[in-house]
Amino acid sequence: MSLEKYNSKRHFDVTPEPEGKKAAAKDKLIFVVQRHHASHLHYDFRLELNGTLKSWAVPKGPSMNPHDKRLAMMVEDHPIDYATFEGDIPEGNYGAGHVDVWDHGTYEPIDEDGEVIKPAEFNKSLHAGNAKFRMKGKHLKGDFALVNMKKDEKTWLLLKHKDKYATEEEYNSEEYAKKSSLAYTEERNKGKKTVKKK
Ligand code: MN
Repeated sequence: MSLEKYNSKRHFDVTPEPEGKKAAAKDKLIFVVQRHHASHLHYDFRLELNGTLKSWAVPKGPSMNPHDKRLAMMVEDHPIDYATFEGDIPEGNYGAGHVDVWDHGTYEPIDEDGEVIKPAEFNKSLHAGNAKFRMKGKHLKGDFALVNMKKDEKTWLLLKHKDKYATEEEYNSEEYAKKSSLAYTEERNKGKKTVKKK
């Protein structure tokens, strides 16, 4: 997927989101998870690859519990600049609502044996519908997988692997959300803020 779809959905004279362009490769691959209260609350899970952010919308948010299978709907690639985006997307725009960074850091693509692999290999894994990676974030740590459900290209599961970082406790990503994120949602739930779709 290119950034054309990303750009075509947005009007950059109205939305504060960054315009989509490809970024030059750096040493480490970054990831970001953004909490996005649009028409529905969800988490956007993004992994840098080939100068863009591969993106999935995760309705329940990521989990550090290996028993959880979190639905992850693949969405259009986002520009690398999007990784630092926080703020309000105005009413009437695509994804109207509020975005906050929930977690960010770097990640390493890994193979079945947990050995680090090159981005090109990771790209192949993604195309094959089974990609493993090691996350180094504040909330998300250790090994994860994204597995395509084979129903269609877009439906994936985000899974935590058993490792020293995994928890057996119930995991609710909302418990780690910023105060500002929760305050926005509280206002929305009280009906003080409205967000209409186009
Ligand atoms: Mn979103």
